[in-house]
Amino acid sequence: MKNTLLIIIVATLGLMGCQKNNSRGFSTLIGVVQDGSVPQDQRDLIDADLKNLSELNLGNIPAQDLQIVGVGSFQGPELVNWFKTRVRYIVGESFDYENAASIVGNLYYRPQVFSRVTPTEEILASNSLTTIMVNLGAALYRYGKQNSEILTLDVGGQTIYVKSPRVGVIQIGEGLFSAWSVRNAPKDSRANSLIRLSVFFHEARHSDGNGDNVTFPHAMCPDWHDYGGNYSCDSHLNGPYVVDSIMLRNLRSACTDCSNTDIQTFKAFQADAESRLLPNSVYGDIRAEQIP
Ligand SMILES: [Zn+2]
Repeated sequence: MKNTLLIIIVATLGLMGCQKNNSRGFSTLIGVVQDGSVPQDQRDLIDADLKNLSELNLGNIPAQDLQIVGVGSFQGPELVNWFKTRVRYIVGESFDYENAASIVGNLYYRPQVFSRVTPTEEILASNSLTTIMVNLGAALYRYGKQNSEILTLDVGGQTIYVKSPRVGVIQIGEGLFSAWSVRNAPKDSRANSLIRLSVFFHEARHSDGNGDNVTFPHAMCPDWHDYGGNYSCDSHLNGPYVVDSIMLRNLRSACTDCSNTDIQTFKAFQADAESRLLPNSVYGDIRAEQIP
């Protein structure tokens, strides 16, 4: 059973490598738990990122941006509340989901048939296979739903039931701190922290949705696209890459102490995110489904 789980999820995520999972958990300032598999240097950076999130106080956010993200304002407490509804655990690159996940029952609930192929939930650095971030909880939820199985996952010293795309388990990789950052700037710079937060908001949108658009899966980019043939595009006007671009744009505007290089990096990542929205995209329902 585990082999099947592994093969299917590897096919879904393209993940490789399994190491022993440290099951301890560390609570962040805002209550999101970091699993023991997150290396301490990364854990310290994420702690600081989430503290920065809680202290944001941004005004003049366009109403459309608020509506697309699904948040009332860009004030710290409001953003934290939105975030914690969608992200509850952060695990490291070595987190062994095959070992941590168990099938504990059958799902007596008829899932809707998917009209799209199961997508990758991974963000990859454009020229390498470096993992930046994966919504592992959403991928496991889709796996369970497609196979009519109820899964549990051992994470952060707890066992959780995977009964909603909002189970909220996010895996981070080294690429988050290297490939997806301002070149030659310290990992703990204000700009790099804000850029990482925008990636977290992208992944958080994968915790949303119901029916056919559960987890807001990426669409295959057409042949003419830079990412042609990869599931690296969006067909939703409120999909993960749009959320990403909204965060990058507003966080950049608020970064008064960012250098010119920082700002150019924000703009480059924003342009990349915007390029992934396909023509004829539509709004998806962000309300999350839940197995009773
Ligand atoms: Zn994504």
